[in-house]
Formats: sequence, C-alpha cells, structure tokens
Amino acid sequence: MKLKIAVLAGDGIGPEVTREATSILRAVAELGGHDFTFTEGLIGGIAITETGSPLPTATLDTALDSDAVLMGAVGDNKFNALPPDKRPEAGLLQIRQALGGFANLRPSIAYAALSESSPLRPEVTKDVDILFVRELLGGLYFGAPRWWNRETNESINTMRYTKAEVTRVARIAFELAAKRRKKVTSVDKANVLEVSQLWRATVTEVAQDYPEVTLEHQLVDSMAMHIMNTPRNFDVVLTENLFGDILSDEAGVITGSLGMLPSATIGGTVNLYEPVHGSAPDIAGTGKANPLGAILTAAMILRHSANLEQDAKAVEQAVHKVLNAGYRTADIARGRPSITTQEMGKLVHQALAESIDLRQAMHAV
Ligand code: NAD
Repeated sequence: MKLKIAVLAGDGIGPEVTREATSILRAVAELGGHDFTFTEGLIGGIAITETGSPLPTATLDTALDSDAVLMGAVGDNKFNALPPDKRPEAGLLQIRQALGGFANLRPSIAYAALSESSPLRPEVTKDVDILFVRELLGGLYFGAPRWWNRETNESINTMRYTKAEVTRVARIAFELAAKRRKKVTSVDKANVLEVSQLWRATVTEVAQDYPEVTLEHQLVDSMAMHIMNTPRNFDVVLTENLFGDILSDEAGVITGSLGMLPSATIGGTVNLYEPVHGSAPDIAGTGKANPLGAILTAAMILRHSANLEQDAKAVEQAVHKVLNAGYRTADIARGRPSITTQEMGKLVHQALAESIDLRQAMHAV
C-alpha cells in the first residue's frame, strides 16, 4: 500500500501530538510492509512567522499533491491582535476550503477505562460508539444572503441546501453505516423548517439504495436529549452543518476529554485529518498534551484513505489497551500519576507492535 501524507503540525501542542501520530503511522507501514511517505508543511502561526502567510502556497501545493493531510492544530496568542483573515486560524479555514471535503466525521466513543472522566454515568456511556457525519460546506454557515445592518439593527443568515448536497453526504453516511452496525439516524427540524423537509425527503430516498441499513429520523431538539440519555442506541448520526456542530460537541463529553477526540473531513480532493482540539497554548511545551486524539486521527487515515481497516482497528485497540493498563496523560489522570505525551505515544506504539506481530504470527500458522 502506497500513501503520500502531508503533515502540517502547526502551533502549540500541534507538533507534539503530531509527532506521536506520525510515529504510529510509520510503525504501521514498517510492520505491514507499506510505503507511506511524509512531507512536512507550514501552517498557522509558525507559517506566519516564517513566510508571512498562515497558509503558504508551498503548503497548499504539498497538500493537494498528497493522498491525505494530517493536521496538528493552529493558534498562537501572539497573533491575537491581527485581523481574522491574517491570523493562524485563517490558514485552517483556507485549507479546509481548498481541499473541499463536505463530510466531517467525528467518532464519539466511550472508553471503559475513562468512564469516570465523563460527566455521564458509566452505565449510560458503556459501549457507546457513535460516528457523526456532519455536512460541512452548506447550511446556515455558508448560505446567502447573510448580513448585519447596524443602522436598522437587523441581521440575517440563510439555511440553504440543494438535493445534490444532501444526497452526497447521505451516501457517505449510509456507506459507513453498512460497514458498521447498519443504522443511520438522520437529524433535522422537519416539523418547522422547509430545509429540513428537503433533507428528510432526500435522505429517505437515498436510503432505498441501502436496504441493509436501517434509517430513523430524529428532530434535533429531542436528539440532544437522546444523546445524553441513550447514546448506545446510535450508530451513524447524519446531520446538516449547524446541528452537527452542536451535537458532535455535546457527544464529545461521552469520551471525557477534548484530547481524545479525532476527526476527518472527506469527500473533497484530498481528505483532511485533524484532532478536534486546538493548539492548547496553556500546556504547549510541557509534555502534558494528550496525543491520543491525534493517534486516533491517524487510525482514521488508515481506515478512510489507506483502506487498511485491520490496522486502523489495531491502533484503536492499542489505545484501549494502554488506557486499560492504567496509563494516563494529565487531562485524564483525575488525581492519578500521569505520563508525558511522548511516553503515551511510546506505549501505544508498543501495544500496536505486539498486536500486529501476533496477527502476523497467527497468519503464518
Ligand atoms: P484548545 O482545544 O486549544 O484548548 C482547550 C483546553 O483543553 C485547554 O485547557 C487545553 O489545555 C486543553 N487541551 C486541548 N487539547 C488537549 C490535549 N491534546 N491534551 C490535553 N489537554 C488539551 O482550545 P482553546 O484554548 O479555545 O484555543 C487555543 C488556540 O487553539 C486558539 O488560538 C484557537 O483559535 C485554536 N484552535 C484551533 C483549532 C484547530 O486547529 N483545529 C481548534 C480549536 C481552537
């Protein structure tokens, strides 16, 4: 398997967690005999410092010439006084737009070993494994007209979707569900919004092509409650842009720490993979960053760009194993002794090597 990966580590804890994620990808390549190449590029504050732009052309060219882009995080307090389009975060928005991904995937998984880190009771979160598929390029965040008239004190945003936009993201949700527990929950507000009525009718139509997958519809307000009360009932949750933004953050509490959450944006020219957290300037350089969100993001590269499902699962199981053995970074330690970013990366690496060795040994028998 050949894969060209652009690595854009960015600012703050970005480089620290990305180092651990790429080391896991290198291990998978070495153990499985794959040919992964890594090309580094600048983005965010570091790119402004070195080139004057938060997304230099060279970085964009590297990204567009790759099979997958692994981002760390961007954001540096020293640029806070700059206008929004000159700040490090502008680089992130620009690259997301240039790569054109329209389906944002965010898993929300309960780790038994971390059950006390979640505000929800362990019996509620036990075995939860939800995959959010959020439409990322349409809806209220992009619809026109949009304005704020300061003289008349009036403002407007527009929630707009076309059938084609809903169809393409719905197909991704059904295809992913077909490889999982075969259930799609589509979220809308069809009792009030015409946009949601189009959404619901289109998703229902797409579902006919996937008879093995069960489709249910939920209104966004009741969904917000169901996620907290009965999260185990959900497999793939399909949402439009705004609803997905809110619900996937809400579901993040099931896992318990921002440092544990991976994400992928697919469907465009090149898939973009990034942990959900930001550059965490408060802990940058202290060795306290949790690299597991970035490592689980690497697992998503294996699954969605390399088609190496077994290896993606092996990385995820290695994370479970290390957590089950009691190892914690500071954000999930809850008063226990904690280990550093690098130590956590090394432990996952070891657990992964053991499981891949075992798999290969069993294969050889
Ligand atoms: P943040 O995610 O950086 O941090 C929020 C809190 O969570 C902090 O206390 C931080 O220490 C902690 N945290 C985050 N990731 C962690 C990890 N892996 N391990 C342990 N603890 C972790 O969000 P913020 O503080 O609101 O923003 C900081 C900067 O990051 C800002 O400049 C913001 O614009 C930027 N940001 C970037 C992205 C991105 O690159 N995708 C996302 C969000 C925020």
